[in-house]
Amino acid sequence: MDNTLTPYIRQFSHLRTDRTGGWTVATQGQAPHKPILLLSVLDLFAQRRIIDNLIEITPELGELFASYWLKVLPERRGNMALPFFHLHSSGFWHLLPQPGQEAALQATRQVDTLRQLGKLALGARLDNDLFQLLQTAETRNALRTTLIQTYFAPEYHTTLLDLGEINLQTFVYSQHLIEQARKQIKETPGEDDIYQPIVRDQGFRRAVVRIYDHRCALCGVRMLTSDGRTAVDAAHIIPWSISHDDDPHNGMALCGLCHWTFDQGLLGVSARYMVVLSGELRIALNVPGHLQTLEGRSIIGPAEQALWPHVEALNWHHQNIFRPG
Ligand SMILES: [Zn+2]
Repeated sequence: MDNTLTPYIRQFSHLRTDRTGGWTVATQGQAPHKPILLLSVLDLFAQRRIIDNLIEITPELGELFASYWLKVLPERRGNMALPFFHLHSSGFWHLLPQPGQEAALQATRQVDTLRQLGKLALGARLDNDLFQLLQTAETRNALRTTLIQTYFAPEYHTTLLDLGEINLQTFVYSQHLIEQARKQIKETPGEDDIYQPIVRDQGFRRAVVRIYDHRCALCGVRMLTSDGRTAVDAAHIIPWSISHDDDPHNGMALCGLCHWTFDQGLLGVSARYMVVLSGELRIALNVPGHLQTLEGRSIIGPAEQALWPHVEALNWHHQNIFRPG
């Protein structure tokens, strides 16, 4: 083993963790926040999403954090802000202050929310040696195994190792979808069976929410909770059951309300990318609230023009799902 790795194996297996919070045997009687955050960071390295030595608090990191947390403690709510702040005591994780917040960050002993954390810190950087080590799969895997074996009960080891692999394949599939879309290459639906259904499903979601920068295309919201949940999901414009089409041109990132309303045909998008409202929204017993304000507004599409929805898909929705009312 590379002898620069040995001290990090030791540090990863000696994280200071809370043991007083009623934690179960699933997490060896300890709070799993730090190991789960580090597993999520290892995933981002595997996906080459951390290019510079800067780990930021992003929806991607939050979603990975939530994916691990739900596997071991679905009944309890996690909080990513806690380990992001407290890992600074590990020695290899260095918080970068927001401009002007150097002294405040230095003086802070406790952070409970992402809001507090975001006010104080831009993100974190790792020891340079560790950053270099994480460029190779072999060292990432050694650290991943250390975390899983140290902080989780044996019956979770395979699940957690598999989840890292699924997260990676999901990312690879999402990249593939985005690259094909950029090149305007259309695959025959179903021709490619190398991906498991869960990978296809999550890969489409991941591709779409990423190109929309985690914002709802219709109302514009972007929300991240401290336990890593985000408001938007990926909607197929022509439903998957009909189109079998995971091309991001057949998708939009939509929040829960807009997704339901779009699927019910109460909201649509014109060929000029304007939001259109069904007359049914305005029948007497409905209270459409802020949805009324969306009419005639341009959708919030991907930064890359080439990835905006195909007009043919929007037209199909307009003719088959939308209720003119
Ligand atoms: Zn919305």
